[in-house]
Amino acid sequence: MPESVLTRPEVFQRATIPILSADQLTSAAAGSLEEARQRLTAIETMPLESVTAAGVLDAWDETSIALEDAFGPISLLNSVHPEREVREVADRALIDESVFITELFQNEALYQRVLRVDPQTPAQTQLRKDLLEAFEDSGVSLPPERRRRFKEISERLAELAQEFARNIRENTTTLRFTPEECEGLPAAYLERVRRDAEGNIVVGFDYPDYLPFMMNVVSGEARKRYYVANTNRGTARNIEILDEIVALRREIAGLYGVPSFAHYVTKRRMVENPETVTQFLAEVKSVVTDAEVRDLRQLAAVKAGITGEPVETAKIERWDVMFYRERLREQRYDVDQEALRAHFPTPPTLRWLLDISERLYGLRFEAATVPVWHEDVLYLDVRDAGSGQLIGGIYVDLYPREGKYKHAAAWPVRGVSLRAGRKPISVLVANFDRNGLTHNELETLLHEFGHVLHGVLSQTQYNQHSGTSVERDFVEAPSQMYEEWASRIESLELIRTHCSTCPPIDEPLVGRLRAAKKFGAGIDYGRQHLYAAFDMALSGEHFGKCLELWREMEGSTPMGHVEGTAFPGTFEHIASGYAAGYYGYMWAKVIALDLISAFGPDIMNSNIGRRFREMILSRGSEEPARDLVERFLERPVSSEAFFREITGG
Ligand SMILES: [Zn+2]
Repeated sequence: MPESVLTRPEVFQRATIPILSADQLTSAAAGSLEEARQRLTAIETMPLESVTAAGVLDAWDETSIALEDAFGPISLLNSVHPEREVREVADRALIDESVFITELFQNEALYQRVLRVDPQTPAQTQLRKDLLEAFEDSGVSLPPERRRRFKEISERLAELAQEFARNIRENTTTLRFTPEECEGLPAAYLERVRRDAEGNIVVGFDYPDYLPFMMNVVSGEARKRYYVANTNRGTARNIEILDEIVALRREIAGLYGVPSFAHYVTKRRMVENPETVTQFLAEVKSVVTDAEVRDLRQLAAVKAGITGEPVETAKIERWDVMFYRERLREQRYDVDQEALRAHFPTPPTLRWLLDISERLYGLRFEAATVPVWHEDVLYLDVRDAGSGQLIGGIYVDLYPREGKYKHAAAWPVRGVSLRAGRKPISVLVANFDRNGLTHNELETLLHEFGHVLHGVLSQTQYNQHSGTSVERDFVEAPSQMYEEWASRIESLELIRTHCSTCPPIDEPLVGRLRAAKKFGAGIDYGRQHLYAAFDMALSGEHFGKCLELWREMEGSTPMGHVEGTAFPGTFEHIASGYAAGYYGYMWAKVIALDLISAFGPDIMNSNIGRRFREMILSRGSEEPARDLVERFLERPVSSEAFFREITGG
């Protein structure tokens, strides 16, 4: 056995992400798999009678760390490295890792040794349970022929998910709009975007191009063209890929003799079975359609007012929603998203976010110079304010560039292990405008930072339990909870500390922001419900071709389906890990809204913040999420706040 990590002095210092070249990446991946293989062989060859909990589980933790040391950074660089070659080499390495993991959880000798473990601590009990479930879910107890097929399918699914993501990430399609079609766009936008020789603007699918366009361009025709193109950005190939993915998942359910892929997945989630999801979605549906129709009627009135058509015939199309929603926000609440960028300039807003997180959770962030993958990237040490101890590190990569991941997300590149003295690292990746954020974007920033904190503040014995490794239908609760800090005076008024020239934020403005945000909950949750229901249908017993099913399901919503659109080709969540899990956003939102209530009237209450850090964030998945949440709330979860949010009551 290699010596314990505890004897390696460097782990007590700052950990950083290695910025690998293509060659270094390939050899890091190979080296890591080799080390993991050796460590597993040591477990595999332990005599059964001398199996101890610490012997097996500590060695397992070392294996997990050896894999994460290489594949944590590789998984990130796959989505953010400026060189295409590195991103591509990372694709291959991640497939090798995925094959390795399936094989290891099909290994009977390892299974027998984990089975023999007699846990001595609650963390060991939980880890043994998690590992045994992973063995079962990877087919260790299936007959050899089925086990072999499961492995083939897993490898193919990993390849397909990568190709799906790549087709979106590497899509360099541009659209051109004439100066007339640009009417309504903010001056800052028009100054920033590219132009061709004829003076047309040239835009792509990055958020800073797309969102302000949809929110501000007067021409419905121009917005329609951009909208349709944007839903096709996954390319026709992604529709084929998704169909193949769905069929393969169905086959996995068959190998296990369960009725659907949703059954296979949900048994490891908070909900435990698909019926609970179906019932939850039915409850949402029972209130959301009326709320959506009510919202659309109000937008139609705004449209009639602007276009002069009679309100009875004014119809809100999908490419109208953002535009008229902004007009309604301006008219009714005096909230102009573009003007809000002056309130939330990007760099000071990041400093504000660090500040409120320091106050709330008792932390200190200190910028330091370390190697980064692009000059825009910042690194910060995370310290405990009380003890001054180094907890871990975070990286922040905020602006779009070619070939970079297109959404906002947090990467838990490195998980904690108290046992091994291992410091965690999380990375925030987004695509913001350099000059400032809208209120929606401010919420996105807080949301992703919620994941970052969950990753970096966890203090679990084992690496496998670190931060965001919680149940998939709980993982969005801390992040959705943190969105609320974008809409409260107690937190927002602190922004002046970081930007003395910014327009002041006062009670009336926050009140208007909240009201403007509240409007459209029917439309938003209608969409969330559709995504979740579509995902469950594709993972269910009676699935069909994804595009046909989508047309039918979207077609039966109040706004209907737009001919020529192909949303499923862009639905990265369900092509990868969120399959039969998209409902988790709303499920976790129920919990998030309930958690907020625990903060009472002062959302900057640091006593509650510390309590949250200690009882939820630091606990990772060492215990089931339900137990953690109920202990924090001192009662069962209530869905009251969630349904109130949809209905606007
Ligand atoms: Zn999230």
